[in-house]
Amino acid sequence: MMEPSPDIPLSAQSVERVKVLEISRQKHPITQLQAQYSFADIKTDGPVQCHWRFHKEHVGLTVYGELKGCLNLECARCLEPYQVPVDLQVNERFVFEDSLTSKDKERELQSEDFYEVLDEEGELDLKDLAQQFLILESLNHPNCERAECRFA
Ligand SMILES: [Zn+2]
Repeated sequence: MMEPSPDIPLSAQSVERVKVLEISRQKHPITQLQAQYSFADIKTDGPVQCHWRFHKEHVGLTVYGELKGCLNLECARCLEPYQVPVDLQVNERFVFEDSLTSKDKERELQSEDFYEVLDEEGELDLKDLAQQFLILESLNHPNCERAECRFA
């Protein structure tokens, strides 16, 4: 089990964007926050619950998220609405821009160990990150569960 870690002060609200420095300046290596999001472009059955954990790394941070909710989708085949419960694990590695040498950038292009480059002075758009994962999930479920649609 992980030891308890501090929530960042903003956690009382539903944080959509967080300043990277607020995470990287924390003394504790792990920061976490809870949020819930509703999206303009994705239909969900109520807001999506997100539990974020930020692990400070040597030159960046790794964002872990648990997204829980329910997608309201429309079957690509019969056009009927249907629901897909989601329980997704997000795992994204971010490396601070300033810490990258041009050699790192070259290596990154050939590497399978993918990471995103992040401006340490900037913000992390958590809602957008959640949205990317939810869109991928909805693409994994293009059809409803009826046999004639599912096996089409
Ligand atoms: Zn269908």
